Amino acid sequence: MKPKVFIARPVPKEIEDYIAEYCEVETWSSTETIPRSELLKAVQSVEGLLITGGRIDEELLEHAPHLKIVSNISVGYNNFDLEAMKRRGVIGTHTPYVLDDSVADLVLGLMLSCARRIPELDQYVKQGQWQRGDDEVLFGLDVHHATLGIIGMGRIGEAIAKRARFGFDMDVIYTNRSRKFEAEQALGVRYQPMEDLLKQSDFIVLMTPLTPETTRLIGKEQFSLMKDSAIFINVSRGQNVDEQALIEALASGQIRAAGLDVFENEPVAADSPLLKMPQVVTLPHIGSATAKTRMDMARVAAENLVKGVKGETPPYIVKELS
Ligand code: NAP
Repeated sequence: MKPKVFIARPVPKEIEDYIAEYCEVETWSSTETIPRSELLKAVQSVEGLLITGGRIDEELLEHAPHLKIVSNISVGYNNFDLEAMKRRGVIGTHTPYVLDDSVADLVLGLMLSCARRIPELDQYVKQGQWQRGDDEVLFGLDVHHATLGIIGMGRIGEAIAKRARFGFDMDVIYTNRSRKFEAEQALGVRYQPMEDLLKQSDFIVLMTPLTPETTRLIGKEQFSLMKDSAIFINVSRGQNVDEQALIEALASGQIRAAGLDVFENEPVAADSPLLKMPQVVTLPHIGSATAKTRMDMARVAAENLVKGVKGETPPYIVKELS
């Protein structure tokens, strides 16, 4: 008999077909996020779960006595209650590497958008405000040869550093839990303690995972150390930043601009002050959202799932559970 699995979000047909070769599959096929109550019902008899972002906690595990593996279609796994999963011997997997380049491209896009005010000036043209001789109101900041500070020099951090160093001749500094000597050698990046990085950087990119240690890692104190010309980019997780402190730093001119792919609550509230600020570029959590990368992520997640329910070792078990 094939093991039962539940696919909690729509995936491409060929991915579902691949899983169905090995498993009995049930799928949540609506584009609406599955309600928690439906998810708790759906996991009752399954050995595997394919999901993006739903909380995998004591309550869900209690409802899923046969569960062997939760396969996340994302690299971040802050939705996992790691202790609860460890206690119950449930494997958790994710999809690293295949999205690094797409996410890094988006970070550069946000840096350029903020520095050269691309979305703001797009509106300026479309709203008929373009007059001859008003050059200075259109001025932005250079990205090339500026100093980039990366907080969290992991897989994606390194892909950003590579683009910044070799594409834009930027001076790249970083801070991280551990020193990255190989990246320092290969990419010519320099380690700096957080405080120094915040003071020196023209662009600050936050790229850590969301963990208890990184929650609100950037707040009032950190913004107060940044240059008043600093551009802050967050493509990691919204909860890594004290969003109210960010709003205040932008409103008071303590920093110049921000590029945000992620928010404390998603979707961001329609009345958030961030949406009214022309110097803020906002995106709907699309770091990895290209057709090819999302397909690659779904494929890796499906392979993790199938290996897990077959009792084999999946390639990308999250490090805390391996
Ligand atoms: P990664 O390779 O694990 O890199 C994370 C880096 O952060 C590691 O170098 C890690 O240091 C460092 N770090 C962890 N905790 C830290 C702390 N307390 N202080 C300083 N540094 C710390 O992960 P990744 O693949 O680059 O992805 C990073 C995160 O980006 C994901 O977890 C996810 O939340 C987010 N993301 C968002 C999107 C999007 O669509 N917006 C897409 C992909 C990823 P060590 O090496 O010492 O562990």
